[in-house]
Amino acid sequence: MDHPVTPCRGRKRQRDPENWTVNIKKRSRYVYSAYTILVLEYSFWLELLIYLGFGSLRTDVCSTCLQHDELLKVEKDISKRNDIMIYRRVHKLRAKAFYDLVREEYADVMTFCFDCQINCPMPKLPDQTTYYSRQLYLYNCTVIQGTSKDNTFAYCWTEDTFAKGSNEIASVVFHRLHSIDFIGIKTVRLIADGCGGQNKNSTMVTMIVKWLTNYAPETVKVVEIVFHVGGHSFIPPDRIFVMIEKDIRKREIIKNPIEYLTILEN
Ligand SMILES: [Zn+2]
Repeated sequence: MDHPVTPCRGRKRQRDPENWTVNIKKRSRYVYSAYTILVLEYSFWLELLIYLGFGSLRTDVCSTCLQHDELLKVEKDISKRNDIMIYRRVHKLRAKAFYDLVREEYADVMTFCFDCQINCPMPKLPDQTTYYSRQLYLYNCTVIQGTSKDNTFAYCWTEDTFAKGSNEIASVVFHRLHSIDFIGIKTVRLIADGCGGQNKNSTMVTMIVKWLTNYAPETVKVVEIVFHVGGHSFIPPDRIFVMIEKDIRKREIIKNPIEYLTILEN
């Protein structure tokens, strides 16, 4: 029995294998163009945000400032908001006042700024396996006497000889204090960052008391210790370390401490 062929109501799809490659190319062009537009739009908006004043991404922000910013976002009480804003203002003024203390120059005040450089690994080689092997560190504690970079003293040692703790840093400062004639000096000002393990500890205070009572000249009556406000202030040794690290980056191979010391001397 012959069945009559009923025509399909829908449109018959025209499958043409010869045009498949053309279709794939066409489709990939659409995807590529959409992706390009997306990337272009992302970079455009990023540049626009930076241009409008949002700035680049922050990486090294003061924890106190972050805390104040977050508190201001959630606090509704006006009096409490005012208190937070006052604390924030005082905090920033303290950071600014620190620079004034660093720059001060009086005939009867001697200033010392000291800080430790980032550890220098040995050997420094382009070989990738060096990164995964146990390297020996060279430590550098730099003391700047006065406000000029001309009087810079670098105390270096390797980690196999001594650690880098409060005892060693106090010894460095003691040696520097013990090596100078404090003629006409009444006040000694020590400036450092607030690192608890190295500078801001009882070992340092005890050493200063010992030096002031037993070794200091009679003219010296006061020793001030000034710690910078973290995240806002930089101390003079940081500028020296930037120059040193710039020279270190230029060298592909550093095998022994003598090469590091040569860079430091220059
Ligand atoms: Zn801050």
